[in-house]
Amino acid sequence: MKKLTAEWDSPLFMQVQAQFETAAQKLSLDENIFNRLRVPDKALIVSVPFRNDDGSIRVVPGYRVQHNDVLGPYKGGLRYHPLVNLGEVAALASLMTWKCALVNLPLGGAKGGIQIDPTLLSRGELQRMTRRYTSEIVNFIGPDVDIPAPDMGTNEQVMAWIMDTYSQLKGHAVAEIVTGKPVIIGGSLGRKEATGRGVVYCLIEASKLLNYKLDESTRIAVQGFGNVGAAAVKKLEKIGTKVVAVSDVKSGVYNPKGLSYQALTDWVNQHRSLEGFPEADAVTNAELACLDVDIVVPAATEGTITPEIARKLKCKILAEGANGPTTLEADKIIEDRGDIFVIPDILANAGGVIVSYFEWVQDLQNYFWTEQEINKRLFEIMSTAFQTIHEFSKAHQVNMRNAALMTGIQKVSQAMLTRGFYP
Ligand code: NAD
Repeated sequence: MKKLTAEWDSPLFMQVQAQFETAAQKLSLDENIFNRLRVPDKALIVSVPFRNDDGSIRVVPGYRVQHNDVLGPYKGGLRYHPLVNLGEVAALASLMTWKCALVNLPLGGAKGGIQIDPTLLSRGELQRMTRRYTSEIVNFIGPDVDIPAPDMGTNEQVMAWIMDTYSQLKGHAVAEIVTGKPVIIGGSLGRKEATGRGVVYCLIEASKLLNYKLDESTRIAVQGFGNVGAAAVKKLEKIGTKVVAVSDVKSGVYNPKGLSYQALTDWVNQHRSLEGFPEADAVTNAELACLDVDIVVPAATEGTITPEIARKLKCKILAEGANGPTTLEADKIIEDRGDIFVIPDILANAGGVIVSYFEWVQDLQNYFWTEQEINKRLFEIMSTAFQTIHEFSKAHQVNMRNAALMTGIQKVSQAMLTRGFYP
């Protein structure tokens, strides 16, 4: 295997590369296709200058990486985090390619990011940085080229500023340039909760498959209480299961009798973190994952399920809400143990991009659907994808991660071979 160029080097890119190589080998992927797919199509690095509240100007690095668009326009989230780098964004872009393909969306894979801690910015600074980043990448994105969406550290408001900046530069409203925006400006009902909801839809399918009950006796730990984690907790409570532990970057809380979604949300809204939440014991993120629970949902960030944690996991199901939460070594340990059913990231968290696709379609048609319609269609796509991947894993004697990757890679590869090579 030829070593990749240093530009992409990052722990997550190496992890995603190794997973791609394993899946490609199992598929006996055409060598030319392999060489093209292991690196992204294009990457743009920008320096984003913006004015701080004190009048000084700060410059931060920003990225947009487009991995593959053979099935349709590039699509992927935008991350604001102090550790964002080109390799991480490239890795996340490639995961988007496989994710869109495996749930049959006519979209390709992309990702973006700015290396910044958004929690340290004022609202004004966040807005000025977002608008300048948008203007720096304006010719790289477009409603039929590349459509950003929220990811870690970004939200509906950030998407609204991107949509407004893009529209100002084009001279007319372009709602379909981003997804995950507020409903009032063309967002979709159900988008905010879609990723967490999709994780739960996968758990419903897994419980049928494993002949496993999802009721008040089911104890669940959710790592991360952001967009994905909080929506998963809300839905898990709604279907009658017991979420006993949740965490954020600062701390975790645990109560074996169960935690209330509303009480947690009210506390976080007031205190900006779970720290100090009453009527629960404090736990670290590592302790949370190893609690005596039935299901663990890592919904925070990559690399949180380390080899040490993998050895100590007590759960029966690991549903990866986050992208890349399980390191390669940890994944191997879990596979060798053989007592944990893993729902891999590109399947478990596909709900977000599915409803983003619905949002884009609604914007293009200027015709909006009911929330009931959206959730019904989301459930249909998620449950079909889950069953397809599971059948594939049985037929090819591979685990769920390889089955999901192989399904996505195979579809992209077939489309590339059918379209042919230019020039
Ligand atoms: P978010 O910023 O809304 O929330 C992240 C949560 O994780 C916060 O509670 C934060 O405090 C916590 N966290 C951050 N770093 C942590 C760490 N090192 N240890 C423990 N907790 C930590 O982000 P999000 O949008 O919910 O995304 C979470 C994950 O899900 C990411 O991996 C993202 O790529 C993935 N994802 C998000 C979406 C989406 O629609 N937002 C879709 C698919 C996948």
